[in-house]
Amino acid sequence: MGDTRAILEQLISFDTTSRNSNLALVDWAVDRFQRLGARVRLTFDDRRTKANILASLGPAEVPGVVLSGHTDVVPVDDQQWSSDPFILREDNGRLYGRGTADMKGFLACCMAVAAQIATRKLHRPVHFAFSYDEEVGCLGVSRLVQDLLAAECKPAFAIVGEPTEMRIGNGHRGFFGYETQFRGKAAHSSDPSEGTSAIYPAAAFATFIQMLGAEKNRSQDATFNVGRIEGGSAINIVPSRCDVVWEFRPKDDSTTQEVLAAVETYLQTQTEPPTKTLLARVPPLMQNADAMAFAAELGGQLPARDLPFGTEGGFFDEAGIATVVCGPGTIAQAHQPDEWIAVEQLAECDRFLQRIANWLETPLRVSSGTKTSGAGGL
Ligand SMILES: [Zn+2]
Repeated sequence: MGDTRAILEQLISFDTTSRNSNLALVDWAVDRFQRLGARVRLTFDDRRTKANILASLGPAEVPGVVLSGHTDVVPVDDQQWSSDPFILREDNGRLYGRGTADMKGFLACCMAVAAQIATRKLHRPVHFAFSYDEEVGCLGVSRLVQDLLAAECKPAFAIVGEPTEMRIGNGHRGFFGYETQFRGKAAHSSDPSEGTSAIYPAAAFATFIQMLGAEKNRSQDATFNVGRIEGGSAINIVPSRCDVVWEFRPKDDSTTQEVLAAVETYLQTQTEPPTKTLLARVPPLMQNADAMAFAAELGGQLPARDLPFGTEGGFFDEAGIATVVCGPGTIAQAHQPDEWIAVEQLAECDRFLQRIANWLETPLRVSSGTKTSGAGGL
């Protein structure tokens, strides 16, 4: 616990609000991982101001486990804090600071156990996967996952350490956000027939989304929202543009496909088919019995439950890796002023990761036809 706390203190001291670079934290963490002898890979954003860390210990040629978390935090703007959010403060069994619960506490537990894992004889690898820009739409993690699949044997399991109070989260909805841009032809409104309004088809589209939402919501397949409409310039001008920003949250991939097909069909029937820009995409995390059994053996708490929030777990699931969410701290503290994590939660996560360290040391079963990646051997 001493190590975890000291590491957390360091991690909190980096102001990695999503709008900032996270490279100071990355440099510090990479230095530590390299000194442990880890294979370290970085993937950057387009401007090279942010990076994902992939740090692997153990054999590269067999499936292991991914421990996944994000390095960025939400802003403290307009929040009343009792002390500096970027200086860790302990009070009455709680550690306060921006990101303690969401989710540098988990990263600290990971980095603490990494130092122990590095001294052991490993039969399976562990991959520490720390991303950027999770809080602004999970923008960084897809590069990390691609890089992981290209460089290492595909892992058997992924554990995403978002705060669940160490309870197993085994599923959540996806999130797909779009801006649909309707275009028309401007004209003076004294003779509207000279122009084509972009607002009428945009308004009709918003209603279409509402109807689709009502249908899919009834079957609990997806929820929908139109969050913003923007178009037109003056009362006496036929509007030439109108943009509709909308999102839906599907329960599974087939719902995603159905919704996208229905929307595409609708839009293609328009006289001026609009363009659609993807703003954010988080795949759903589907229940996976193997991942759940693995996490339960490690001490993750049951009963497993669906999560009311999206995570990077959907990306690992999409890559064919058995994934659950299980991490220290409570989601109720995420994004709050005076965000805290209980010391006891960090200790519980440390114990969970200790069991992963033991699993990594377990020799693989070599008889033909048996799985080498199962949870057995804990
Ligand atoms: Zn988070």
